[in-house]
Amino acid sequence: MESTCRAIGVFGGTFDPVHFGHLRLAEDARQQLGLSEVLWVPAGQPWHRDQPEVSPAQRLAMVGLALADNPAFRLDPSEVESNQPSYTVLTLERLRKQLGKTQPLVLLLGADAFAGLTTWHRWQALFGMAHIAIAHRPGFAIDPAGLPEGLAAEYRQRLVEDATPLNTAPAGHIAGFCMTQLDISATRIRALLASGQSPRYLLPDAVIAYIQHHQLYRKL
Ligand code: ATP
Repeated sequence: MESTCRAIGVFGGTFDPVHFGHLRLAEDARQQLGLSEVLWVPAGQPWHRDQPEVSPAQRLAMVGLALADNPAFRLDPSEVESNQPSYTVLTLERLRKQLGKTQPLVLLLGADAFAGLTTWHRWQALFGMAHIAIAHRPGFAIDPAGLPEGLAAEYRQRLVEDATPLNTAPAGHIAGFCMTQLDISATRIRALLASGQSPRYLLPDAVIAYIQHHQLYRKL
């Protein structure tokens, strides 16, 4: 099925808290893949990891602050507001219903998240609903030999060399894009905050101000 609309990026995560690694991934993806916008979808209750330390509403508020000055970034509060466990496959089904069958959608993933894809609910159905774009380091291609067998097969079969097919078909391809490497993780930021150290320059000042105002991530 051909499409005439530019692709929309879909970026889900716990964002506990959102940081410059997330923001740079979305910005690199938007530019390199020619996306019209990136839809940020903070998870409600992530099923596949420990419960976040702050409330879903607080994580949502922090992502809102981080995106505020970028008109190509849009916040989708649906998962948080639904108060249900978040499954990417259901998020994409919802977006498909809203945006129609022909709109190209590109699920943005870090390489670590892609490598763990076979543990996701109905992971093979994802390819029918969106393309997948994987952030990787310049000069370091993803090695299918290091992936679970089923995922490696999908990767080999669906991989495209450039972003054009992501904007002409609604779903089904896998592409890589080069991301500025930022060794930042929410886990590390939470550890810094819990031990009273500064997280400055790892995440936006507005998010740090929110964390301080609400006294988040402190060990009791
Ligand atoms: P945590 O440390 O709590 O596991 P995180 O920083 O990895 O959190 P998530 O919300 O779990 O953040 O990640 C959302 C997405 O962002 C995932 O696809 C993940 O691979 C990607 N991501 C997170 N940090 C980076 C980073 N520094 N560089 C590239 N991708 C990242």
